[in-house]
Amino acid sequence: MYDVAIIGAGINGCSVAYEFMKEGKRVILFDKEGIASGGSGAAGAFISPKFSKAGELKELLHEAFVYSCDFYEKNFPLCFTKATLTHIAKDEADDEALHVYKQKTTLKLKKIPKDLEQLLTQEAKKRESISLEAGVIDAKRVCHAMSCGAQFVKEKVERLIFNDDYWVINETYSAKNVVLATGAYDMLIEEPYIQIRAIWGHRIDITTTTKNPSSVHQYVSLSPSNDGILAIGATHNVHYHPEKTKEPYDIEQGRVELLKKATQTMHLENVKVIQDYTGLRSGSFDYLPMVGSLVLSNETLLTCKDSLYVKKPDFREYVYYPKLTMINGSGGYGFVLAPYLAKILTEYILHGKEISKTINPARFFARWARKR
Ligand SMILES: Cc1cc2nc3c(=O)[nH]c(=O)nc-3n(C[C@H](O)[C@H](O)[C@H](O)COP(=O)(O)OP(=O)(O)OC[C@H]3O[C@@H](n4cnc5c(N)ncnc54)[C@H](O)[C@@H]3O)c2cc1C
Repeated sequence: MYDVAIIGAGINGCSVAYEFMKEGKRVILFDKEGIASGGSGAAGAFISPKFSKAGELKELLHEAFVYSCDFYEKNFPLCFTKATLTHIAKDEADDEALHVYKQKTTLKLKKIPKDLEQLLTQEAKKRESISLEAGVIDAKRVCHAMSCGAQFVKEKVERLIFNDDYWVINETYSAKNVVLATGAYDMLIEEPYIQIRAIWGHRIDITTTTKNPSSVHQYVSLSPSNDGILAIGATHNVHYHPEKTKEPYDIEQGRVELLKKATQTMHLENVKVIQDYTGLRSGSFDYLPMVGSLVLSNETLLTCKDSLYVKKPDFREYVYYPKLTMINGSGGYGFVLAPYLAKILTEYILHGKEISKTINPARFFARWARKR
């Protein structure tokens, strides 16, 4: 009997595995393809805050950014490359947002690196920019390192049955808790209020004689040069889905788009694309992640009735799937959010610490129930 069965071995699943193992728990981790085979395997894995004026996502990402930089540096230093990050505004509205951000932030700001300034295009130089200490994660390596010590099973989970007070997975494995960390794929549990937006992304590794000293974000992100190799990512495509779109993905067009956007920011010389990475990000419909227990909608509709329609419902009144939680919907910030969210989820499962309404999946049930 395992303490927890985690379904999905992306950065979210692997981070939860790590937190449970830290507490001395037995972990079984499933993935239909392998560790970091979904969106996590495709990510450039830049660790960055959100440079907007205000909002819940900005606040959450600020907390997660500070937490995750420290977490990766302390626990996985070989997977984490610290680097200055320079974020450049895309247009006038962005200039204004960045200006406000710079005035309000508590993060320590730096001057734009001199050797980077020389590489920027005239257009990029005209825009507002911000530089601070951040980093890039080796996506696949960190997922392997975090899940080391868990029982890994390469198998698609198709059946989940709750048997008295534990879960039986694919009629073979048993665990006291189940965590769904399935990314943009089928969630296994169908509930009408949970909807995942799948956003296809493409990134590339290139060789170039241009030596980029730091991470740069504008239309796309460019990593610092490492042995002549530079990562560029990523596209955002809501129309293509590998399991639903009939035509194959046009990799050449994706490369052209990435290089065009990268060279709007920086002069790059003698470029050769050496590798492509593609995958799905999973986003929620309010752009905030979903972390916590899942509401049993039919049972809750029957038992809660009138209290469903109040403006500020009490999520504690809802009926939930027993010992089953989810962690998903991190959009383009999975590597920033995962260590922070996995800690929140683990403290909730093992110690009953409440999860904020902002990220609790029950918020979608509350909205869905009111709309009915
Ligand atoms: C091109 C690209 C670039 C990106 N760049 C960045 C970046 O710079 N910084 C950043 O922070 N984020 C970035 N992201 C976003 C980040 O990769 C995602 O937010 C993150 O990977 C989500 O992790 P996850 O664990 O939720 O999902 P995934 O990594 O997709 O993992 C889900 C896993 O679940 C498995 N699975 C699903 N269903 C089942 C089942 N029934 N049984 C068994 N296994 C199952 C899948 O095989 C998959 O491996 C990028 C994403 C893409 C695509």
